[in-house]
Amino acid sequence: MRKKKYKKEKSVLFSTDGKGNWWRREWVEQCDQDVFFYGRCQGVKGHKGVHWCYQPCGSLAWDDNENDPTEKGAAGSIPPGHKSYTTPEKMVKKYWLEHYTDTKVTDPKEIARLEADKMKPGESITRPVNLEEYNVAGRKKRSSKKST
Ligand SMILES: [Zn+2]
Repeated sequence: MRKKKYKKEKSVLFSTDGKGNWWRREWVEQCDQDVFFYGRCQGVKGHKGVHWCYQPCGSLAWDDNENDPTEKGAAGSIPPGHKSYTTPEKMVKKYWLEHYTDTKVTDPKEIARLEADKMKPGESITRPVNLEEYNVAGRKKRSSKKST
């Protein structure tokens, strides 16, 4: 049951200022182990210590790590308020989404690909809202009302 396979895709987010400047944010791989039956581990792939994830109720679920066995193969769940409970604020440093590198995109071919919206698996784009276009559309509406 712990051997569930997760897709091995890199998580990459591109962002642009809409003026041809592009930045690339690449996250490290998420740990691909399940935490008992609670869900996918939220740690960084290859991490030390137990596998862990938070449940909707706020409890911290954990599961022994085969690469760093400390708990004799056990697993459990610690509710908030318990003496060995760790808050999400303390775990944030171990949270895989907190581990990424930002680089500016300089390859013209890569920029052309991004401008054309050609995404690879695991990639996504965030674009700024184009206020000028928005205003133009708004003005057109207003002026067409006036002329009628
Ligand atoms: Zn893990």
